Amino acid sequence: MPTRRKRDPIQTAPIDPGGERPSTVAPLWRYLADVEAAALVCDEHAEVQWSSPSVHEVLGVRPDELHGLPLTDLFAETAQPHIADRVRLAQQGSTQRTPISASLAIDHAGAASFDVDIVAFPTDGRRLLLVTLRDASSRLAAGRALAESETRFRNVVNNVPYGIGIEDQDGNFVFLNARFKEMLGVQANYILRDEVADLMDLAEVNDRRGGLQRDDEPIDDITVRFTPEGETRFGLVTLLPQEGAGGESSTFWAVADVTARVRAEQDQARLHRLMETSSDLVLVMTHRSVPLYANRAARNFFGIPLDATLDGEAEAIEFGTVGAAQVEEIAESLRDGRIWEGELLLLGYDGLEPFSATLVPDTSGHRVLRYSAVLRNIGERKAFEQRLEWEARHDPLTQLANRLLLGERLDRALATAGPDQHVAVVFLDLDNFRMINESLGHRRGDRLLLQTARTLEELVGNEGVVARFGADEFVVMVDRVRSEESAAELAEGLRQAVSGRVELPEVDLLMSCTAGVAISDGADVDSASIIRDANAAVHEAKLRGRDRTEVFSSAVRQRALDRVTVESGLRGALRSSEFRLFYQPKVDLDSGRLAGAEALIRWQQPGGPLVGPDEFVPIAESSGLIVPIGEWVIREACSTLRSWTEQLGDDRPLHMAINLSGRQLARPTIATELRSLLEESGVDPTVIEFEITESVLLDDVERSIRNLGQIKDLGVRLALDDFGTGYSSLTYLRRYPIDVIKIDRSFVSGIGSDPENAAIVRSVVELAQALGLSCVAEGVETAGDLAAIRALGCDVAQGYLIAKPLSDGDAMRLLGYDPRY
Ligand code: C2E
Ligand code: CA
Ligand code: CA
Repeated sequence: MPTRRKRDPIQTAPIDPGGERPSTVAPLWRYLADVEAAALVCDEHAEVQWSSPSVHEVLGVRPDELHGLPLTDLFAETAQPHIADRVRLAQQGSTQRTPISASLAIDHAGAASFDVDIVAFPTDGRRLLLVTLRDASSRLAAGRALAESETRFRNVVNNVPYGIGIEDQDGNFVFLNARFKEMLGVQANYILRDEVADLMDLAEVNDRRGGLQRDDEPIDDITVRFTPEGETRFGLVTLLPQEGAGGESSTFWAVADVTARVRAEQDQARLHRLMETSSDLVLVMTHRSVPLYANRAARNFFGIPLDATLDGEAEAIEFGTVGAAQVEEIAESLRDGRIWEGELLLLGYDGLEPFSATLVPDTSGHRVLRYSAVLRNIGERKAFEQRLEWEARHDPLTQLANRLLLGERLDRALATAGPDQHVAVVFLDLDNFRMINESLGHRRGDRLLLQTARTLEELVGNEGVVARFGADEFVVMVDRVRSEESAAELAEGLRQAVSGRVELPEVDLLMSCTAGVAISDGADVDSASIIRDANAAVHEAKLRGRDRTEVFSSAVRQRALDRVTVESGLRGALRSSEFRLFYQPKVDLDSGRLAGAEALIRWQQPGGPLVGPDEFVPIAESSGLIVPIGEWVIREACSTLRSWTEQLGDDRPLHMAINLSGRQLARPTIATELRSLLEESGVDPTVIEFEITESVLLDDVERSIRNLGQIKDLGVRLALDDFGTGYSSLTYLRRYPIDVIKIDRSFVSGIGSDPENAAIVRSVVELAQALGLSCVAEGVETAGDLAAIRALGCDVAQGYLIAKPLSDGDAMRLLGYDPRY
């Protein structure tokens, strides 16, 4: 108990508790009398001058007991400096808002702590202090309760399945519960306005909030898109506007994560859109096929108005003519709860159409409640499949059977042929088709093939199969042929039918065709071997000069085998020096003297006959052996020419003509190769003439022109051999860098008595003259031929009349005689 220094009581009126109280101080008085607070008035020395009656209730002392006590003595030592501090401040006129928390040193009613407010109020000349003491225990208890409730609240707030946040009036989030943070993918307890926009799409919120007043109703059901770390989530937001204690407004956010629901809705919408736009028919029907849902395609197909409501009262769907057995099968499957898949015919506007169907039942027990159908029109697919099927077995240009179909039909025919029935296979090959194609254009070439195809089809009809086998090869299969003779007749008939004059746009052509035929001989043959035999026969016919029919026989097979033997023989022939060159002289018709010769190759196998080039040159060409053989020919011909000039003297300017095969000409390096061969042999290139068959040039016109130009640059002369057998157009002829046209012997032999050939030769001579080319007639066999070609203006003649191809010795002797013609 602190010492009490007695002082005189204050005499001033306004705070005399006993006196009349002016009405203006009544509220203050009421306050001071409040039992919860004890009020003291202290003088300028901070000693208690007056205490309110409530001191007794609050502090447990009588008011007069405090009188004269220094204020600080009332408090426990720890609080005293704070009180003294506050007294000083108050006396200096500064008002502190927060009360001091202090314990008392005097007896009291048991409160542990008091809130002490000290306010100074000036009276006339003096500065008095009003001190209020309030029991703090209830406040502290309330504080504790508040803290507890706050923790409880925080726990609740953090654990509710909602995102909860508080947004201040500037748009910053000043509070976020754990769930909200998780939704936004943030860790911070605070989000600045600028960051908010990156985390969620506020467009709709701002939209709805536009008209929101402070005490408006809450806004709910705003779907907001969140984008935590690039993922998209959806929240259903409720906004509650709030007003803070200081009058500032804020917004309370409650957010439910509805991502799964939104996704499901989006999926469903997408699915619905998909179904509506699908060209498949999608239906949900009652067990009686009354539609409950039909997508747009299904409504269109079944004629259900697009705006009709499908409430189960509509008419049942008509599934067209599905067979009774199928109906039963479907019903059974659906009853068993099994999905049925298959093909159905549905009756649409265009009649019955094929559909692939998937029917899915929705059953309860053995009762079908509903079923769904997905129906796809497979009409086009079926047509397409048929088309593919057809295309795989037919030639696109002529629409004839192709090899595959031919093989199948042939196999079937061979399998079903009776004992006395033969199957005949005719192989037809158009002569010179490549040339026609090249010179007249592919369009006309195609026309020719089409015309040929139609002619063959007309002739064969239902008796057999016409197939296109290769570019210009047709195969006809006829399955009931009595004998080899009738097969040969058939083949010849077909061959003739596609030969002869053919009219094409702007040109007429004289076509020829080569045929080969083979028949099955009863023993088991397969389609491949009979086709191979017919092919061998046509090959044989080609070797025999085309434009003919050859029947397959053991001899043909033998020769086919021979070709293989020839090829292997040829390989050794070069090494064993079995080739010989023969020379056929040529006459210069101006002077009538021999002017040179053409080198023609022969093959002399030891002890065998002398074999002509027709027998082996084609084989050498196809095997590529013609290249080394050709080199040998050039060397040999050049050296012969040198020995002739050495022996006959330089005053006889002799030419040597050497044949070049297409295979040689096609080599990109041919010019260089020829140059080194010529240099090596030491002959003057101007006396060498290379002969190239017309048809060879037509295979690849541009390359031919290029290569010929390079050869020409070596200084040699170039001759176009067998002119008239190909189809050189005049345009090409002008572009070839040639010097000589050699008229084919088929136009020359017998020309004296053949006015048609004479007319042809005349025009060729005129053409040659117009182009500045020299003209050689080959195959001059009679004096009549010679006179005729001389009269027509040919420059040079070659043929049996002058001499057959001679050995080099014989040829030189003839040149030495220097006969005149
Ligand atoms: P080609 O270049 O048209 O040669 C002319 C052919 O006609 C020669 O046949 C010749 O013997 C023959 N002949 C010449 N005058 C007459 C005649 O008055 N009447 C008849 N009926 N025929 C006559 P050969 O020697 O059998 O040569 C045939 C073909 O072989 C030659 O036709 C030529 O294309 C080719 N050939 C010959 N030697 C060679 C060669 O060294 N290299 C190349 N690549 N082919 C050659
Ligand atoms: Ca020739
Ligand atoms: Ca010739």
